[in-house]
Amino acid sequence: MGYGRAPHILIVGGGYVGMYTALRLARRLRKDEATITVVEPNSYMTYQPFLPEAAAGNLEPRHVVVPLRKVLKGCRIVSGSVLSVSHARRTAVVQPQLGDSFDLAYDILVMCPGSIARTLPIPGLAEQGIGFKSAAEAIYLRNQVISRLDAAASAVDPAVRRRALTFLFIGGGYAGIEALAELEDMARDACSFYPDLNPAEMSWVLVEATGRILPEVSPAMGLYTVKQLEHRGIAVKLNTRVESLVDGRVVLDNGERFDAGTVVWTAGVKPNPVLTRTDLPLDDHGRLRATAFLQVDGVADAWTAGDCAAVPDLTKGEGATTGPSAQHAVRQAGRLAENILAELRQQPIRPYEHSYAGSVASLGLHKGVAEIYGIRLRGWPAWLMHRTYHLSRVPTLNRKARVVADWTLALFFRREIVSLGSFADPRAEFRRAANGSPAAVAPATEAAGVASADSEAAAHRS
Ligand SMILES: Cc1cc2nc3c(=O)[nH]c(=O)nc-3n(C[C@H](O)[C@H](O)[C@H](O)COP(=O)(O)OP(=O)(O)OC[C@H]3O[C@@H](n4cnc5c(N)ncnc54)[C@H](O)[C@@H]3O)c2cc1C
Repeated sequence: MGYGRAPHILIVGGGYVGMYTALRLARRLRKDEATITVVEPNSYMTYQPFLPEAAAGNLEPRHVVVPLRKVLKGCRIVSGSVLSVSHARRTAVVQPQLGDSFDLAYDILVMCPGSIARTLPIPGLAEQGIGFKSAAEAIYLRNQVISRLDAAASAVDPAVRRRALTFLFIGGGYAGIEALAELEDMARDACSFYPDLNPAEMSWVLVEATGRILPEVSPAMGLYTVKQLEHRGIAVKLNTRVESLVDGRVVLDNGERFDAGTVVWTAGVKPNPVLTRTDLPLDDHGRLRATAFLQVDGVADAWTAGDCAAVPDLTKGEGATTGPSAQHAVRQAGRLAENILAELRQQPIRPYEHSYAGSVASLGLHKGVAEIYGIRLRGWPAWLMHRTYHLSRVPTLNRKARVVADWTLALFFRREIVSLGSFADPRAEFRRAANGSPAAVAPATEAAGVASADSEAAAHRS
């Protein structure tokens, strides 16, 4: 309002909220009404609900991300991270991927950097664990699981085999459960190609600190899911905490101890810490304080939504806020964009209000659990519902077509069970040749699996 020229809108983060807000604004704004800049470290938005299927090899990882430059026509995309924001000065400090940081002036701020993994100070966690929030992590885990099968099948020491074949997941929300269930399904499927491996040798363990999993659905559906997982041989340990993970030796608070070759941490999220480097108001949980109109509380020209924001949930009682979910993020983005447009055009803005519809979760091929508007589905119908719902939600016709193509191919051909671990260090062979070193034999160690997977993730990122 009263900017004296077309205002500059800065969107921090190109995830769910950032991409959908920019998309709606770019489509609805006249050229002279405003300019838009999106700052995002990745060149793409990640459709996170499809990450478990990408990890399980049912979807090509490139098809679960949306290239920002292709989709956000008319917006300026800056590949980098916002380091801090001084809203009083209407300036953000941006660290581009290359070169020095710089100041970026703006008139209107949309703060949506999402969340990061909420970890605990468990010894060994930082060294042994991996999260499950990005395409790189999904690719890594796919390679890691397959490379552990490869390594175990060729190992003679029973203890080495047992460790390689033990997969520990910590945290029973939908991200963790879907990742666990999809990867276990893939590994079991893959075992048929390993005559030296008996699927019963694999140990898949879920540790959850509370008394139930999938808090997003009713307790009955949570219990059903526990039974399903146990039926598949997955050990579900409720009311249990991990005390130590040093060197991959797992110590639980019930006294149990075992070695795990893979540790996945999915025990919740916390707001992105960049919020603490702004002059905007935060709540007790470190989220940006927001109004139901998606404005930062008491601050002009600053908007927020998604995982990083404490948005009042008008469908619930006083003090309730909307949870961190794509369901809210995508709808909030639409309302946020409309409210910015309304303000620019000096029209009334409207509050965000959406009753949480429920959740759908895939538990492997043809397996799932869903609870939508109180309707409970299990098994195949739930799995179909999961696919139908997310297909309708994944942005752009191009992505939808690619996802359908992947699924269709999977109907006729079994998934690939190749760990492209040899991409670990693609220049290694050439370096050795150039240095005149002897050819290397890929070591069948845990570290090799980790390194391999990391580098293929990097290859996909590039
Ligand atoms: C595996 C998994 C499965 C899920 N499945 C479901 C599901 O089935 N249903 C559902 O409703 N929800 C699901 N969710 C949750 C949902 O994906 C999130 O709630 C949603 O992505 C939140 O949107 P957001 O825009 O707030 O954050 P994000 O989508 O995470 O976007 C934040 C963006 O900000 C960028 N960023 C971070 N720091 C900076 C910085 N300093 N500067 C600039 N940019 C920055 C990040 O790179 C990221 O792209 C799932 C999440 C995961 C991890």
